[in-house]
Amino acid sequence: MAEEPARPRARSSTGADGRRRDRSWPPAPEPLPVPVVDDHTHLDIVDGPGADERSDDGDRRTVADLLALAAAAGVPRAVQIGCDLPAARWTVEAVQRHPELVGGVALHPNEAPVLAARGELDDALEEIGRLARADRIRVVGETGMDAFRTDAGDAAAVAAQEESFRAHVRLAKELGLPVQVHDRDAHADVLRVLAEERAERVVLHCFSGDVDMARECVARGYWLSFAGTVTFSNAGGLRSALSVVPLERVLLETDAPFLTPSPHRGRPNASYLVPHTARVVAGVLDVPLEELCTAVAATAEELYGPW
Ligand SMILES: [Zn+2]
Ligand SMILES: [Zn+2]
Repeated sequence: MAEEPARPRARSSTGADGRRRDRSWPPAPEPLPVPVVDDHTHLDIVDGPGADERSDDGDRRTVADLLALAAAAGVPRAVQIGCDLPAARWTVEAVQRHPELVGGVALHPNEAPVLAARGELDDALEEIGRLARADRIRVVGETGMDAFRTDAGDAAAVAAQEESFRAHVRLAKELGLPVQVHDRDAHADVLRVLAEERAERVVLHCFSGDVDMARECVARGYWLSFAGTVTFSNAGGLRSALSVVPLERVLLETDAPFLTPSPHRGRPNASYLVPHTARVVAGVLDVPLEELCTAVAATAEELYGPW
């Protein structure tokens, strides 16, 4: 039975440029030859036709629909990331209902300053600490630093972001879980905090650094997770960074419903579209697609355990 999200949060129907997006679902790609894991998705955020009108639109897709589509495309498992308190609570329940999922919980780096301004950050971190101990929660994330949406000139906001990031890294170490790190225009600060906190099992989600940063992350033993951004025509620098990463350090993700891979950029995203990203990544690494998929699935199990 297909259920609706407990707390649907609809993605905006307009893009960053203010223009209406094409909300129709892209067609299913050719399935992958070997099943992989989507390392990072947000199933609590609803997109697609009718999503924010809450209508009975026939093309509205539920979580169960999206998981079935993903399985048919060779992506039968995913890591569901809930990165504010309602989404983290939703994630703890969703991973119980759907055997395809394990979960991650955290406060997003853009959420931390908002909570801090309201005097609620400490309580929220405490609740994340409780939720992270729930069954099938296998990673702390996404946490990190974001100098794009949080104003770098707002010292209090930046301090709250860093404090929250450090608290999440400590929680992950305490629980023996890996940590998924969000890094937007904040490479140096992210690397500094991870080093200062002696972070242990680190996944840089939606990796966006250059060749030097990729080399530094590999030297530190981190994993690099590549999203649809690596397929974009203007992402030559990111593909160069990927080319220096050993196969066993590479993960694939959607960050759905955002960052839809080419050729469907701007439309809704979901785990069934991972094959577009996988094919580009295999090409850049110059390995057969089967070999990439086998490695990615094994790496995901190494990090999060079997499911
Ligand atoms: Zn992120
Ligand atoms: Zn995300």
